[in-house]
Amino acid sequence: MTVRVRIAPSPTGDPHVGTAYMALFNMIFARHYNGTFILRIEDTDQARSRPEYEENIYSALKWANIQWDEGPDIGGAYGPYRQSERFDIYKQYAEELLSKGKAYKCFCTAAELDEMRELSAKQGGRQGYDRRCRHLTPDEIIEREQAELSYVIRLKVPLNGECVYEDAIKKRMTFPWADIDDQVLLKSDGFPTYHLANVVDDYLMKISHVIRGDEWMSSTPKHILLYESFGWTPPTFLHMPLLLGKDGKKLSKRKNPTSIFFYRDSGYLSEAFINFLTLMGFSMTGDQEIYSLDDIIREFDYKRIGVSGAIFDVQKLDWVNQQYLIKNISVEQLWDRIKEWSFNDEFMQRLMPLCHSRIKTFGDFMDLFNFLFINHLHYHDAIFVVKDLSKEQICYLIQSLIWRLDELENWNGTGVNQASREIAEIFGVNHKKIVMPILFASLMGKTQGPPLFDSVNLLGKDRTRARLLKAMEYLGGISNKKMASLKKAWQEKSGQPLMIKD
Ligand code: GLU
Repeated sequence: MTVRVRIAPSPTGDPHVGTAYMALFNMIFARHYNGTFILRIEDTDQARSRPEYEENIYSALKWANIQWDEGPDIGGAYGPYRQSERFDIYKQYAEELLSKGKAYKCFCTAAELDEMRELSAKQGGRQGYDRRCRHLTPDEIIEREQAELSYVIRLKVPLNGECVYEDAIKKRMTFPWADIDDQVLLKSDGFPTYHLANVVDDYLMKISHVIRGDEWMSSTPKHILLYESFGWTPPTFLHMPLLLGKDGKKLSKRKNPTSIFFYRDSGYLSEAFINFLTLMGFSMTGDQEIYSLDDIIREFDYKRIGVSGAIFDVQKLDWVNQQYLIKNISVEQLWDRIKEWSFNDEFMQRLMPLCHSRIKTFGDFMDLFNFLFINHLHYHDAIFVVKDLSKEQICYLIQSLIWRLDELENWNGTGVNQASREIAEIFGVNHKKIVMPILFASLMGKTQGPPLFDSVNLLGKDRTRARLLKAMEYLGGISNKKMASLKKAWQEKSGQPLMIKD
């Protein structure tokens, strides 16, 4: 059998460690079975997809030494590999299902759907949509079409029985059809949903094995039904255990760094990082923990992939990284690697303008810029003292700043400047207090330093976010109850200063 596997990330955010994890296992699987590994960009969500996020996926995966054989950037025989360039294809396949009687046009309005959802929730049902358009007569359909009502195309999901399939990792899976809505395949604007585009592309790109995170498992019955409706043979599914945080919950950027760039910028070796990621889902024979990519490609056996969630433990990553440094990087190579990381000309050229008028001697350089080259700032209470603000109130400001920066989608110096001014206004706090000491303390571990917003550009988005989270943690954080009310107040921002009460 020809093995063809793929990853299909959506370029809607920072390159997630989960993407590298899935990419790695797909690549290892492909290499082990002499197959082909494809990168497909699933940018059907036009509102959230951005070209720069797509670029970031490429550069993050390249940093991790993950190489694909076909993709939007390198082409291949089954392209285009970017879904936004394939919309005509999906439309054609949705129409095929209509003509086969496997799908139907649904003319319900957003208001009608809301009503149905509310009603179904009240009745404790799982279904949002009551399938009323599934039963329209041909005349009723023609009538609506003539009135030019907009419509979506929905999949006809069986009303009873079960979807049963064999997952190569999770074994036999059973889902009652009654729990599954008549899935929208094509939206009223002609854009496909994830399910349609994903299945059509996996089929057309001749994907033999779908290896993806187990958070997609609930979508698989819909996908299997789509394959059956088209008359195609489904690929083999391997649902990998999800990466979990230390709290046992899905990794979340709200709690821990999840961007691949954070690990690059913090000075991890890419080869140790991928070794660590493979450890999350797989165990080598003899429980060997430090190995090369070639070793795991040779030894790979999907039967040794774990079934339950894998804890993304940074302490373990640190240990793996140190083992690599000791075993695989010689003393002679070490300085080259450190230079490559952050002591390279490009970075230093960006830093020099900030340095130029601020040092008396070269000996002041490290004192001024140490925060760019260390992973753990040593916070202490004195740097966080702000007149009239408690530690928890400082956390409110930091948390709101994070939310605002995410809304702005601009985490560079200009974004932090704008967001901190807005937060100052919303909370009725002097902007200077937010910058100095709160931001200086959080980002540099001191109350003064080189200009803050330029420094943010050098620190990068991911380390900036991580430090804001760390500072909140140091300050005691925000209780769940208060977090909920802060969030509510934040979402309802009425233009009135948010009251900060202890
Ligand atoms: N676009 C989905 C994602 O963002 C793809 C999931 C799949 O592999 O089917 O991960």
